[in-house]
Amino acid sequence: MSNPDGQKSGGDRDWSVVVEDGIAKSNEPVSSAVAEPAATTRRHEPHEPPRQPLPEKLYKPREPVHNKRVRGPFRTFKWLVMLVTLGIYYVTPWIRWDRGPYAPDQAVLVDMANRRFYMFGIEIWPHEFYFVAGLLIMAGIGLFLVTSAVGRAWCGYACPQTVWTDLFQHVDRLIDGDRNARIRLDRAPWTWGKVFRRGFKWTIYALIGLVTGGAWILYFADAPTLFRDFFAGEAAPVAYITVAVLTLTTVTLGGFMREQVCIYMCPWPRIQTAMLDEKSLIVTYKDWRGEPRGSVKKAKKEPEKFGDCIDCTQCVQVCPTGIDIREGPQVGCITCALCIDACDKVMADIGRPRGLIDYATLEDCEREANGAEPRSPWRTLLRPRTIAYFLIWGSIGLAMLFALGVRSHTDLTVSPDRNPPFMLMSDGSVRNSFTLKLRNMESRPRDMEISIEGLPGAVMWSDTINRRDAAATQVVTVPADQTRAVRAYVMVPEGTETRDFTFRITSQDEQGETDAVKTRFSAPGDS
Ligand code: SF4
Ligand code: SF4
Repeated sequence: MSNPDGQKSGGDRDWSVVVEDGIAKSNEPVSSAVAEPAATTRRHEPHEPPRQPLPEKLYKPREPVHNKRVRGPFRTFKWLVMLVTLGIYYVTPWIRWDRGPYAPDQAVLVDMANRRFYMFGIEIWPHEFYFVAGLLIMAGIGLFLVTSAVGRAWCGYACPQTVWTDLFQHVDRLIDGDRNARIRLDRAPWTWGKVFRRGFKWTIYALIGLVTGGAWILYFADAPTLFRDFFAGEAAPVAYITVAVLTLTTVTLGGFMREQVCIYMCPWPRIQTAMLDEKSLIVTYKDWRGEPRGSVKKAKKEPEKFGDCIDCTQCVQVCPTGIDIREGPQVGCITCALCIDACDKVMADIGRPRGLIDYATLEDCEREANGAEPRSPWRTLLRPRTIAYFLIWGSIGLAMLFALGVRSHTDLTVSPDRNPPFMLMSDGSVRNSFTLKLRNMESRPRDMEISIEGLPGAVMWSDTINRRDAAATQVVTVPADQTRAVRAYVMVPEGTETRDFTFRITSQDEQGETDAVKTRFSAPGDS
């Protein structure tokens, strides 16, 4: 028996109690061992808490899951999702995107050195990180939307752990054979043949891990150049370290830990379980139809006594996480629906209707059990909760698209010098210094005019413009796709008091984009 978390219940175990040196040692859970102390125990002082017996093992060793090959519509769909997701992951870094001579021509690139994120026609600068935050929020709400509509479809089909585990399981099948051959080989003693097979399989695992880690680093530099440098031994050390770490984690998580990641490590199943309700689609065994179980032969003899489940365990044998869906919804079920394919085939073979295990809502299961027709899938998908998630998700997407469409490619930041805040010149005039950062987000150099507003009589010059050429406005050239820092010196006539004023930049091209920043001019008498 399993509890709702998919763990074996204590009733199945042999909880032996051993008495050594007067201390009860047991592999039983602490609470129950305490409830029934051993016959011979050490005498305790009145205030001394009783000594707790230690379990011999903290948890059960992993039992490998050798899932059987299955065919059916859900398996085909899983193949398709695997092809698409792996295809996107491996191919994307190689897609080129012409952005002109001043920007990289890789379609998707996280350019850490220049602190830019390129995604096809979109270029995100560090000060626009809110777009990335918006994308992450959309991904989160998208997961809520998918979960409330079609249960744990993300876990079953598109989660990287699922996709890579599936890939590794196919490698197992190709090299060691299907379920029975794999079980036999697993139990067989270590011969040279087994060593060779295992070595070969683990080498394939390592190659898959290497390609996984290798593809990841290609998102962070020009893919063809990095690819060449990597194999020539000329890439940066961080590239080799990243690939090594990702190879190791891919092999460990996808090759050896597999369902344990889903059952024990990943927090998402717990969150999703809390998000599901009786109207969410989940993979369900219809016990009202299947129980009591009995073989075809028995059922033929006494059809009224047995349900549709013939206890063939095909659904358990194909399960990639090794659970028995007939024991009810469990955290270990990733909703991949392979058990549906297996059971539907069994039902077809014995001439009973399909759907003993099926995607269904708990509400529909109850209706069906009471003889009512299940409701239309549209009523499951289109309900207030899913519509609300979709509206939130869509609104954030539209807001981001709008912000992208109207954003300026010109930006200015201003930092006044604080020490000293002003300089008193020999003729009585007052000078303040500022650091301006002019950002040109176009992929071509642009001239930008810097002007001063709200400071009568002010003139300015900079580290590249001589004081002799001081004027109310100055024009500087900002290179393509760059931020240029300018030291600006602003001088006002004697008698000017401390006051706020504005720096404005205007691009000297047909776009005439502008940005303005208000700052403060400090003068003697400033408190
Ligand atoms: S595959 Fe279907 S018939 Fe066979 S054990 Fe599972 S639920 Fe029962
Ligand atoms: S019980 Fe069925 S749906 Fe759940 S993980 Fe196993 S095969 Fe997939």
